[in-house]
Amino acid sequence: MAPHFSVTFYGCRGSFPVAGPQFQRYGGASPCVVVRAGTRTIILDAGSGIIAHGNAMLAECKKNKVAPVADIFITHLHLDHLIGLPYFNPIYMPQASVNIWGPRMGSYDSFEAALNTFIHPPFFPVPLYEMQSSKQFTDITEAHAVYYLKGQSRPVMLLKHHPDTVLPDPEDIEVEVHCMRGYNHPKSGVFIYKIIHDGKTVVYATDTEGYVHGDQRLTAFAKDADVLIHDAMYTNNRYLSMPSSTQGYGHSTVEIAAGVARRANVKKLFLFHHDPGSTDDALDAVGELGKQEFENSEVARDGLTYDVI
Ligand SMILES: [Zn+2]
Ligand SMILES: [Zn+2]
Repeated sequence: MAPHFSVTFYGCRGSFPVAGPQFQRYGGASPCVVVRAGTRTIILDAGSGIIAHGNAMLAECKKNKVAPVADIFITHLHLDHLIGLPYFNPIYMPQASVNIWGPRMGSYDSFEAALNTFIHPPFFPVPLYEMQSSKQFTDITEAHAVYYLKGQSRPVMLLKHHPDTVLPDPEDIEVEVHCMRGYNHPKSGVFIYKIIHDGKTVVYATDTEGYVHGDQRLTAFAKDADVLIHDAMYTNNRYLSMPSSTQGYGHSTVEIAAGVARRANVKKLFLFHHDPGSTDDALDAVGELGKQEFENSEVARDGLTYDVI
């Protein structure tokens, strides 16, 4: 099988979904990015964009006569990254498997407990446990990595630095997923994910803000990545505007995103998590600014697929 590694954007809008003629070219769905790597499909976040992906996935499974399997990695528990989950049709299907990894946050005992609070009456009519798919929820930490091994249907999650852990032979790994906890997103932080396949790397760094001289940990985590998807909700002008500066909101500017891309020496930068107020014309201007700051950059838009290999 020819190597295949691609990124498809199903939702790029931050904070809340938007609709209207002024948002048609870049789209208005909230975050969901689908990474296809070899035989695997990894879904990053479950914003409203996951609804369209769920329907596309079901059509493909029906055509190929296979049971739906969805592996979803959640960055954090803000609603714009979860709002699509109760509308993700595979989660209602008894023949489907839905596996979700995410961080334990706030005062909840587990990632699943937090989801159970939000996907439950009176906030939503159907509690999570009544949705009929086979569901598995896993708390992930920076110490873990998830390995998809060749010839094995389900991945394994390992404590990658523990002395008792026997890491898989690199030859046996089809895809690996690593994460880094960012502390620069209120109030519980955010998980940044790195997906590695066939020597190539995609990093998904949404809902993150910068630091003086750049985020050093993120720079190291994303070093030499082939693709960096980075929060670029604002421009520096908006970020610094007084009296309503967005400093401390936990989001980056185009300039901050480009700075990480340069320092980390990534090959391609996607500007992501667009402000709900940014119209198509405003995002065209963001794209131009992005190219001045980092030449191989592009504004992410719903429906765009980028081939890493
Ligand atoms: Zn967000
Ligand atoms: Zn957030």
